[in-house]
Amino acid sequence: MADTLFTNVRILDGTGATPPYSGSVLVSGNRIRQVGRNTASIAPGNAQVIDAAGATLMPGMTEAHTHFSWNDAPNLAAIQTMPLEEHVLWSAKVAKNYLNAGFTSCLGAACAKPRLDVVIRNAINAGQIPGPRYLAAGQEITVPGGLGDEMPPHLPFPDYSFGQVVNNADDMRRVVRMFLKYGVDSVKINLSGDNFVPGADAKTTWMTDAEVAAAAEEVKMRGKRIIVHARSCASIKQALRHGIHLIYHASFTDEEALDMLEAAKDKVFVAPGIGILWALLWEAEKWGIDHAKAVSMGYEEEWAAACQSLRAMHKRGVRVMPGGDYGFAFNPHLQNARDLELFVKHLGFTPMEAIRSCTLYGGQVMMQPNELGLIKEGYLADLMLLDGDPLANLAILRDPKRILAVMKDGVFAKAPTFASQRSWDRGWGNGAERAA
Ligand SMILES: [Zn+2]
Repeated sequence: MADTLFTNVRILDGTGATPPYSGSVLVSGNRIRQVGRNTASIAPGNAQVIDAAGATLMPGMTEAHTHFSWNDAPNLAAIQTMPLEEHVLWSAKVAKNYLNAGFTSCLGAACAKPRLDVVIRNAINAGQIPGPRYLAAGQEITVPGGLGDEMPPHLPFPDYSFGQVVNNADDMRRVVRMFLKYGVDSVKINLSGDNFVPGADAKTTWMTDAEVAAAAEEVKMRGKRIIVHARSCASIKQALRHGIHLIYHASFTDEEALDMLEAAKDKVFVAPGIGILWALLWEAEKWGIDHAKAVSMGYEEEWAAACQSLRAMHKRGVRVMPGGDYGFAFNPHLQNARDLELFVKHLGFTPMEAIRSCTLYGGQVMMQPNELGLIKEGYLADLMLLDGDPLANLAILRDPKRILAVMKDGVFAKAPTFASQRSWDRGWGNGAERAA
């Protein structure tokens, strides 16, 4: 593996504490060897030198709530009915695209068939296919009639179901053990309903404590992580009561739920998937959900509640992370970084706090807090090079033309092609959005 020296970069280190500064970064093997505060401070030795002409170098981003196997279809049944062979190829393609888009780490939040995530993770780790660092999940585990039970009443075949449907604590134990046998990193259970599901809306909480306890016990025994779909207030409290610390959505809270989240803030991560609420409210008309329908489905109420809840969590120091539920027709893959913009516009984040939530917190949620998510000597070399200043314009994080290069583990996934990409008139990093 050739060493790489980035010179003349604007370093955004990902801590959220340090303003960007000019300098050089030397990558040796798969790690960041040296970070220099001025551009001539590091001797290149044998390294390949990338003169970045003022472009921004920041840590690769983390997506905390990823579904590679969601196939950009408009509903769960259309995701589920994709044949297995096509589904594997689809998931591999999405994994590659996420990496090229700057997501060097992704945390699987459920897949559509039992082993899809595990197979993709293993193929990435074996070097068979390109993709981010990946923590694999199983299917969503749900109860009859809940989110993920797509089985038509007259066709009682489990393969029609998006998730695995369990009916009591023993049943839960059986399914959780099956996913653990398959090698998942995380077991996903659906504690609350969802406005997408007629009769099981986002404020419902249908899984029993006995079922949740059985799942939590099995997962803990094998040293893995349990992750939950929890939109309702009761489901957030249920998760915390059972020691579950990666919570998806967390839309509806009360004072007690916020106090519980705050009390556990050193362990808890919340990845709300805020983008899909926005998309359903304002951008789903083409797929039969116009604004009036979205309101009648409860999305206006949930959006307002989620903004209030997530703002409060952020103020109380709970780690709220971008990403989530991309992979529907109305919320397609690769727009994931839009969440950072929504965090700033609607949740009270500064741009720096939004970036910190997918860099510093990213390393933490991937369970590699001391070596992943920052530009820091000794850390893993997961980096992205940007044409412009994301603090002045977060939208460049989802513009493939502005993502000049992506490196994972010291190797370019997307190599810089300077001659063709450089805007010679202004030079990188001198674009209109450059902060004064
Ligand atoms: Zn999800």
